[in-house]
Amino acid sequence: MINKLTEKYIFTPGPVRMFEETLEIGALQTPYFRNEAFSKITLECEENILKITNAACGSRVLFLTASGTAGMEAVVQNLLCSDDKALVINGGTFGQRFVDICKIHSIHHTEAKVQNNNLCDTAILDAHKDATALLINAHETSIGTLYDLDSVGAFAKEHNLLHIVDAISMFVTDAVDMQKHHIDALVISSHKGLALPPGLSMVVLSPRAIEKINPVHQLYFDFNSYLKDGARGQTPFTPAITIILQLHQRLEQIVHDSIESEINKAKEIATYFREAIQDLPLKPYSFHMPNAMTILTPTDEKLASLIVKDLDEKYNIIVAPNGGELKDKVFRVAHMGAMTKEYTDVLIDALFDYYGRKR
Ligand SMILES: *Cc1c(COP(=O)(O)O)cnc(C)c1O
Repeated sequence: MINKLTEKYIFTPGPVRMFEETLEIGALQTPYFRNEAFSKITLECEENILKITNAACGSRVLFLTASGTAGMEAVVQNLLCSDDKALVINGGTFGQRFVDICKIHSIHHTEAKVQNNNLCDTAILDAHKDATALLINAHETSIGTLYDLDSVGAFAKEHNLLHIVDAISMFVTDAVDMQKHHIDALVISSHKGLALPPGLSMVVLSPRAIEKINPVHQLYFDFNSYLKDGARGQTPFTPAITIILQLHQRLEQIVHDSIESEINKAKEIATYFREAIQDLPLKPYSFHMPNAMTILTPTDEKLASLIVKDLDEKYNIIVAPNGGELKDKVFRVAHMGAMTKEYTDVLIDALFDYYGRKR
């Protein structure tokens, strides 16, 4: 039964195909963690994340044992208060999640939808003059739109906004730079581009964000205690130990090869896939797709939901369906993780066979 689940070709935007090195660590016993040896591992992970994100001097990384949404919620809970007014860029499911989080935690907020993938529309500014914080999902995974972080960052800086970015589904496949993009809080997570199992989220805080942390009003996600314990490489509660070991290995590799080469790899695979399927009755649904993922819509009468089902049942391939009103209109193919051209060929060949075409 388990094999039936795990022996699939996987092209979903989380979880993603993992590397052999990650799988090998996953097969080991979980070590004890309240000691110097494990502290060293965590501190090295922090150092490498700060390097890869080009975080300003004095920035810190918090390791939360939870999926990415907890990182989003914890950032809002810890960094925003009743004096704030959040401007949420709501482009889809994940933008809506930030809106819901603000609502639940009674944070004043307004939402904006943008036409393109930037914040050059001056109407946005006029409508939100009193905002103190900007919340955005760098890649709105539900519609495959990558926002232009140069434009978003310039906007945040110009209006002196605390800039909170969910980079979960574009980290290490697309470029994000905390200093260049004026980011104060960056949320990332284990099971997207990092290609680790789900269960670990990281929050990178700039010195400005650290200054703004609220006094303690919750236990599990209180950033004050994560900062305090993190200074010696520890976490307040038992972390996802094995995932941190896997993260350590993965980050060492990325830093060794360079983040630019990691991003280029994803770009190469995405381009390879998009060019290969050009002549099939499928077209990109977004004009601003990231390297992380391709979002497609059928140009014939085929239902996207049926394509997703058939790829699974006939070819053992999992691509991501959409929910709601996009259910029959689009499906998504991720290029994150241990992707190769050979692995991507399995999907390309299946699509050609499905449409009765010769590649
Ligand atoms: C996957 C993802 C998340 C996190 O979702 P979880 O189900 O909590 O892991 C958050 N934001 C974006 C943009 C995502 O793609």
